[in-house]
Amino acid sequence: MYDNLREKVINWIDLNSDQIVSFLQEIIRVPSVNPWFFDEPGESSEGDVQDIIQKKMEDLGAQVKRWEPDPDKLVKYKGFPNYTPERGSYQGRPNLYAEIPGQSSGKSILLFGHIDVVKAGSGWREAEPFSGLIKNGKVYGRGAVDMKGGVASMIMAIEAVKSSGIPLAGSVKVGTVVDEETGGMGILSFIDEGYRADACILTEPTDFLVAPLCRGILWGKITIKGRSGHIEIPHGHWSSGGAVDAIKKARYFMDMIDNLNYDWARRKVHPLQDLPCQIYIAQINGGEYPTAFANEVELVFNAQYLPSERDDKFRRGGKVQQEILDFIKNVSNADPWLRENQPTVEWYMDADCAETPSDHEFVQLLSKNVNFIRGQSVVKGIGFHTDMGWLVNSGIPTINFAAGDPRVAHQSDEHIKIEDLIDATKSIALTILDWCGED
Ligand SMILES: [Zn+2]
Repeated sequence: MYDNLREKVINWIDLNSDQIVSFLQEIIRVPSVNPWFFDEPGESSEGDVQDIIQKKMEDLGAQVKRWEPDPDKLVKYKGFPNYTPERGSYQGRPNLYAEIPGQSSGKSILLFGHIDVVKAGSGWREAEPFSGLIKNGKVYGRGAVDMKGGVASMIMAIEAVKSSGIPLAGSVKVGTVVDEETGGMGILSFIDEGYRADACILTEPTDFLVAPLCRGILWGKITIKGRSGHIEIPHGHWSSGGAVDAIKKARYFMDMIDNLNYDWARRKVHPLQDLPCQIYIAQINGGEYPTAFANEVELVFNAQYLPSERDDKFRRGGKVQQEILDFIKNVSNADPWLRENQPTVEWYMDADCAETPSDHEFVQLLSKNVNFIRGQSVVKGIGFHTDMGWLVNSGIPTINFAAGDPRVAHQSDEHIKIEDLIDATKSIALTILDWCGED
């Protein structure tokens, strides 16, 4: 009987794969670009994607709620990740929650994603960015991978289970939020509303990796001071007023950062994480004109950290921040000029991270189903940030999982293979079935 149900769901998906693809096309055609990608944020069409999802979920028998994140209500999260009051009003930018109640007391599942996308950018050759064009077995468009493909998979997985006429014991819940791409308050407001479940699949593109871990990301800026002076004439020692080349000091710093990265690569290891945690210099700003030594250099960096490196309240990379500050102090103290002219550090962003134990039954279950559909399954962490931090920290075991190569995200000609979209839908549908249980 059990195998029969699984076959029924898989058959429905095979017979209705066109519907899955056209649902994805429909949501790609809404250009729900996060308004904060523009110098002057205008109106957002995130709500139009929510309209489509709402209609679909209501047709499937769900109760749907929509609301806009309210920065005033969220002020209690000041100092926590995602609290970004500078975003101003979220008017016209609704989150959505849908629930199909279970028939009895089975375990509940939450399927979660964001519906904003990054801006289209230039260089699209294969298709218009919001066309949802199908070419060579792929669907093209901004968001095809990140993450409207995942959202389409999770919602159509619910339809597959529903349409197969299988009553579930546990509840199926859907959360689709705004403002993920600029790290805003969509997820924060969702958690604040109190929505919880016994497990969650966050359908960010992992290219079929079962990813129960994501790393935290810190952005910061080190400002290194020098002392400008004519570049073509000799200078005395800095202690008697001579020039100090801030670019040379920055190079010294960057060499020391290389050393730190060797140390981190050796020390900061995790069985699920291949990519080492590193500090990368992403931007160098310095110097004023060709005849003067640089007065100042700014090194903008991106540092990644593991969930175990969060601070004592498990909310931020506080331990890593302190480690970087100590490093800067030690490096500076080894140089007489820098010892007296300590660099300053400014922090821009801290995107949180989380981990669900890989031996958790939900991780094992999804992994088993991915293996059943794809013939193999790999449990591994991902390098990029997702919204999973707030979900896990609220007690919901969460896995990132969906089709789509994350390297294609944010690129021109973003696309997803239809075959992969369908396989991800099957993997998720079987997991809903197993986790929530037949009533
Ligand atoms: Zn995403």
